[in-house]
Amino acid sequence: MSYDFCSDDFSAQPYWWDITPRPQNSQAPLPASTEVLVIGSGYTGLHCALETAAAGRHTTVIDAQDLGWGCSTRNGGQISGEIKPDYAELSRRYGGAEAQALIGEARAALEWIGAFIEGREIDCDFRRCGRFVAAHSPRQFDKLVKQVKNQTPGLEQPLHIVEPRDQASEIDSDYYHGGMIVDRHCSLDPAKYHSGLLRLARNAGVELVGNCAATRIEQNANGFRVITAGGVVQAREVVVATNGYTGSVTPWQRRRVIPIGSYMLATEPMPPQRAAKLMPNDRVFSDTRKIVVYFRRSADGRSLLFGGRVSVFESDPVKSLPALRAEMLRIFPQLEDVRISHTWMGFVAYTFDTLPHIGRQDGLHYAMGYCGSGICLASYLGHRLGQRLLGREEGASAFARPRFQTRPLYLGKPWFLAPSVRFYQALDRLG
Ligand SMILES: Cc1cc2nc3c(=O)[nH]c(=O)nc-3n(C[C@H](O)[C@H](O)[C@H](O)COP(=O)(O)OP(=O)(O)OC[C@H]3O[C@@H](n4cnc5c(N)ncnc54)[C@H](O)[C@@H]3O)c2cc1C
Repeated sequence: MSYDFCSDDFSAQPYWWDITPRPQNSQAPLPASTEVLVIGSGYTGLHCALETAAAGRHTTVIDAQDLGWGCSTRNGGQISGEIKPDYAELSRRYGGAEAQALIGEARAALEWIGAFIEGREIDCDFRRCGRFVAAHSPRQFDKLVKQVKNQTPGLEQPLHIVEPRDQASEIDSDYYHGGMIVDRHCSLDPAKYHSGLLRLARNAGVELVGNCAATRIEQNANGFRVITAGGVVQAREVVVATNGYTGSVTPWQRRRVIPIGSYMLATEPMPPQRAAKLMPNDRVFSDTRKIVVYFRRSADGRSLLFGGRVSVFESDPVKSLPALRAEMLRIFPQLEDVRISHTWMGFVAYTFDTLPHIGRQDGLHYAMGYCGSGICLASYLGHRLGQRLLGREEGASAFARPRFQTRPLYLGKPWFLAPSVRFYQALDRLG
């Protein structure tokens, strides 16, 4: 299925996969035993594996699909190092010191990932481009102004207000009411980044096995016996790195993450000057809505990559493409004549306290629940998870302390999602 606004080479797969084709060697055999078995081959799993392999532990990473098939090659490539709850909310829950620790660690993770990518020379179009947070109403603009003026002592970062009258310097759109620039935020090509991690993992001796879903985990005297689609493997330690794709094989984790679809489109390439006019400073963008939209230009500067959630229920991304495009055209009506070349979706993992979590349960190590901002935090907490598994002090993290909550009757299918989306859409309309 495609529409008259789609390009002739329209694809219902991530834009990034054209540049970085899916790995071809996914059918490697599963070893009979391993010291560390990592389930999930995204940023969390690979960063954890890099740590354990570097310490000399025989490490195997498996994925139910092709390596990196999950969110880690599908995302918008916007790197923030922010968590959802603000200081006021976190200090109400846990006290001021803990709020500082959580926000401070997430912010430090942004420095860490930049240093990692540059230090390991990962070619992934990483840029310190800054973010424009666009206000969708005058009231939200006032909130941004207050946020810039009243930064929490000890957690200050460079933020700048852009008045509505000056907005054209950032975005060629009348849809918004001014906004805020966050200097520190960055961008990258997510699939190139993932491919760089795969290369590092391979070089470190990690065994990488795609198309090998874990279907049952049994604890025994030597650790765990894990039954997979590719055979049985005995593992001393098991890591659960499945985030928005967490399934029935780890029911405790499944009851604690809420899978939510995020949907994206890419436009066909535009003449460079036309594309540059849309966002002259080439930053990453998101807006102040609860049901947020996010967008940026591609690394070659020629396509618009636009994401958000337009359907109340999960949908085939091709079916919801007209609504996602309509959302894009509300912001950029001048793109009416530009065709759409790609659309795709993936499942992010929310949590009941909107924080990511790292820890160990029933002997299984896990890190997950990045609430849609996982490039930085999945990488960082995956790295910490590896250190924790090795029993190293550096593995300590504030994200291990809040209780990983579930709710009565929640078994992993978010029946409450549609009413929540409707509620937040109504709030967004009220500004
Ligand atoms: C459309 C979209 C846009 C996004 N945009 C951004 C963004 O701009 N910035 C940002 O920071 N974050 C963004 N995210 C979120 C970010 O991509 C994720 O938080 C991050 O990639 C999570 O990494 P992960 O390794 O934990 O999980 P994933 O990359 O999702 O990997 C989990 C893997 O586990 C595998 N798996 C599941 N069950 C099993 C099993 N039983 N056996 C074996 N394997 C299994 C899956 O196949 C999957 O490959 C976006 C996500 C989406 C979908």
